Amino acid sequence: MTRLRDHYFPGTEPLGPDEMRVVALGTGRPFVRRAQANTSFLIELGNGDIFMMDFGAGSQKNFTALNIPYEDVTGYFVTHLHADHVGDFANVWVGGWAGGRLRAMEVWGPSGAVPEHGTKHFVETQVASYAWDTMTRVGLLPEAGQHVIVHEFDYATPATIYERNGVVIKAFPAVHIYDGPVSFRLEWNGLVFVFSGDTTPSRFMLEHGAGADLLIHEAFNTISQLMARSGYDERTAIGIGTIAHSSPEEAGKLLADLRPRRAVLYHHFNDFDTAPEIEREVRKAYDGPLDLARDLMVWTVTPQQVVTRMAVVTDHAWPNTEDHAAFRAATRAERPKMSSFLSDAILFPKGS
Ligand SMILES: [Zn+2]
Ligand SMILES: [Zn+2]
Repeated sequence: MTRLRDHYFPGTEPLGPDEMRVVALGTGRPFVRRAQANTSFLIELGNGDIFMMDFGAGSQKNFTALNIPYEDVTGYFVTHLHADHVGDFANVWVGGWAGGRLRAMEVWGPSGAVPEHGTKHFVETQVASYAWDTMTRVGLLPEAGQHVIVHEFDYATPATIYERNGVVIKAFPAVHIYDGPVSFRLEWNGLVFVFSGDTTPSRFMLEHGAGADLLIHEAFNTISQLMARSGYDERTAIGIGTIAHSSPEEAGKLLADLRPRRAVLYHHFNDFDTAPEIEREVRKAYDGPLDLARDLMVWTVTPQQVVTRMAVVTDHAWPNTEDHAAFRAATRAERPKMSSFLSDAILFPKGS
């Protein structure tokens, strides 16, 4: 068993060939707050692959803090199209482009009951709405980085949606308000990672979430916390906390059946005065290993151990490409020409 330092310092621990590392980039509720961004988890594998599952609003500042080049992210996976799961799309896409990505961004996400509810529609309309943004960056930045490839899959059918380089990712339905949401199961090198996205406990998770080394499942704040702290009436609190989501007690019952090597619950405001009640609720049924997620919590998963730590990061990270030669050499499109009344007003012309 490898002896790990008490904290995780990005850039100091190359992954072992049999190692999986998962980093929480966002763990909170649909309000961005300093302590917790919206949902996002990063999965790094010993084969060099890096996957991001969801990119909720505010989460990308925590990705930047890890000092991982955008170019190194293999693919982005979307559980559903709530803003607290995809709200940082522009940061991933344009930030990644400006941050050195030299190829198209690849996104996998579910279809919906109608085409307008699907991932393809979401991405295409996001891209279209940033027409001015894209047009002004081409010519300055490598052309390839502006493109997005969308792989939309059927939300209703449990299936393998990704299979490359020894990594298999399966999607299966999540039960969250309406048709469309999914959960993911990633298998690599004998290790299993399962991410619920948003769901109330369901038989889909019982079926496809079994045997996980790391299971990240959602659990909302308790009904009493939602009423006392969020000001919801009981009906609203029950609707949000147990029908749309998993209550901690129900999540505990599910975990007791699934028994992962390590369980992680996210999607609640995790504070010193809310966490104890949430844990008590979970513990009514589940007595196994458990973490209540916080932003920048890190899990090191190997066949021998599962270790939970917090990352120590700089607030002043610079996203950048490490391969400056490739960045310099990459093809640029022709720069757009501004109107002559603007270019004629430039005090210090730079040529073309
Ligand atoms: Zn949701
Ligand atoms: Zn959510």
